[in-house]
Amino acid sequence: MARYTDAVCKLCRREGKKLFLKGARCYTDKCAVTRRAYAPGQHGQGRKKTSEYGLQLRAKQMTRRYYGVLESQFHKYYEMATKKPGKTGDELLFILESRLDNVVYRLGWASSRAEARQLVVHGHFTVNGRRVDIPSYLTKEGDVIGIKENSRSSEKFKAVLEENASRPVPKWLEVNRDAFAGKIIASPVREDVDLEVDETLIVELYSK
Ligand code: SF4
Repeated sequence: MARYTDAVCKLCRREGKKLFLKGARCYTDKCAVTRRAYAPGQHGQGRKKTSEYGLQLRAKQMTRRYYGVLESQFHKYYEMATKKPGKTGDELLFILESRLDNVVYRLGWASSRAEARQLVVHGHFTVNGRRVDIPSYLTKEGDVIGIKENSRSSEKFKAVLEENASRPVPKWLEVNRDAFAGKIIASPVREDVDLEVDETLIVELYSK
């Protein structure tokens, strides 16, 4: 499974926004966006690109990085979104939200989407009672996500759950921490997506 392995704080600095890629550190003064609020590299503090294409590209890159998805997969999601009945930009975000790694993160069972991805790959979760170790697995309304029984007692996993227990869960998800279970009770709506992005820019970019 291909994934981005460079320093992730650079990605936030490039977008000029916190993308919350590093868990607890993102909420502290150590956050690189707080400390160095300009793009990385030699020309990072120079003139900002403001062309129409530049804005569209940044919107796409930011969204892709926020969810930790590589370009080919992201483009596949866009193609899927165009076939759905709603607005393509919204549908794209809903597909990204429904990925199993995102759901695990949103349920407060991981500190970041990257950690959620790793935990999924290591086989800690079930969907409707069956083990699923594919981070890109697309969940749907009514699905029940569980933490595998033998994972619940692992000290490392307990610490992750403890650390993220107070993070609010979006209203399209329901979590029962005592039962180590979460349920998708509705499809997400645009307000449920935390990312501040103009998704129509992504649609414009791909429709060229
Ligand atoms: Fe982004 Fe988190 Fe790094 Fe801040 S600490 S720059 S939010 S990954």
